Amino acid sequence: MAENWDRIKGMLGLTVDGRPEPGGQASATAEAVLDHAQSTQALGTMISTYGRHAFDLDGDSAEETHANCERWSRHLIVGAPPPGTRSSPAGERDLEGLRAFFSRHRKSEKRYVASALKDLRDAVWTFVRALGQVLALDQASDKELSAQIVHLKKSVTKSSTEEIKKDVLAVASRMGRVLAEREEQQKARMQTLTQQMRETRQQLEEARRGLETDPLTQLFNRNALDQQLDRTAALNLLSGHPACVAMLDIDFFKKVNDTHGHPAGDEVLRRLADCMVRTLPRKTDFIARYGGEEFAILFQQDSLDVARALCDRLLDAIRALRIEHEDSTIEITASIGLAAWDPAEETSAWIDRADKALYRAKQEGRNRLVVADDNGNVEGRPEGLPS
Ligand code: GH3
Ligand code: MG
Ligand code: MG
Repeated sequence: MAENWDRIKGMLGLTVDGRPEPGGQASATAEAVLDHAQSTQALGTMISTYGRHAFDLDGDSAEETHANCERWSRHLIVGAPPPGTRSSPAGERDLEGLRAFFSRHRKSEKRYVASALKDLRDAVWTFVRALGQVLALDQASDKELSAQIVHLKKSVTKSSTEEIKKDVLAVASRMGRVLAEREEQQKARMQTLTQQMRETRQQLEEARRGLETDPLTQLFNRNALDQQLDRTAALNLLSGHPACVAMLDIDFFKKVNDTHGHPAGDEVLRRLADCMVRTLPRKTDFIARYGGEEFAILFQQDSLDVARALCDRLLDAIRALRIEHEDSTIEITASIGLAAWDPAEETSAWIDRADKALYRAKQEGRNRLVVADDNGNVEGRPEGLPS
């Protein structure tokens, strides 16, 4: 390129530094020619530089643009044929062609940059929207991040690509920290919630047990008995096991209260409950306080013979009880009515038969066991008499 420039200068009679030779024939025309040559040279250099920094556009690769710019540059500086032609008239420069090429290329660049910016903005908007949704889930750290988002929204609409990039990175980094903090908080919250749930479950369990338990004796209450009767009937229907229910009532309990006072009566109830649990310790023996001084025992898997033997053993244990209260020793007896389960009847009818047998036991002198037969009749076996 320098050679060409020297050649041009030689042709124009200029010195090495490009000034007219002193005393030469250089005139105003020469000056104009010189200016024109310098401008053309500068334009060629600019086009060449522009081509070297070309980038890929839709439909125009950077290499193609670079090659075209180089050809235009050589055309301007040394008169080589412009792109798309084989020759050019000597001394002529196709400035119109250059203008068309440059204008076309510039428009194409503008389109590309505009669409790239739009893509970037769309991506940032998507990010902003998603972030907004995440924020809606947690109010705690919203304020700070919301401020960042507002800033980011402004930045997306007003700032340069470089600033948008900087802001997005800053928000992303801050978000990373906030999300890490939030994760920690959520972990702690989860632990608290788990603990609360455990306590609530425990309270519910206690409440449920409370609903099923008689507070004075800690035996099951009547509610629990009713449920257990139904369950036993349903299960035994499938398993074929027998079952029996016994109703037990303390004899002349009113007298205990009258003689020793109500607290003594309570103590008797507690001690009797204790005695029943110790005498009938199997899991299948379901013992409940039915109300007042009346109790029920559900023998969930026993035949009448086994249940009868167990009731006799219980009556013996009750007779042997010595309940100390203040200065007194209280002794009690009880009466029991026993009924075997009949799969054909309702549980209420089953209880009813046991109750009737108990009534008979009272009628027949108390302190004894009476068994109801399948027809609703009762067979008595008063204490001391042979069975
Ligand atoms: P029977 O042999 O016919 O069953 O006579 P009884 O005196 O045991 O029967 P009665 O129904 O006449 O009296 C029952 C008494 O039980 C009356 C009531 O005050 C007493 N009682 C009921 N529940 C409680 C309680 O929780 N504590 C105390 N101390 N007494 C109770
Ligand atoms: Mg009684
Ligand atoms: Mg009673």
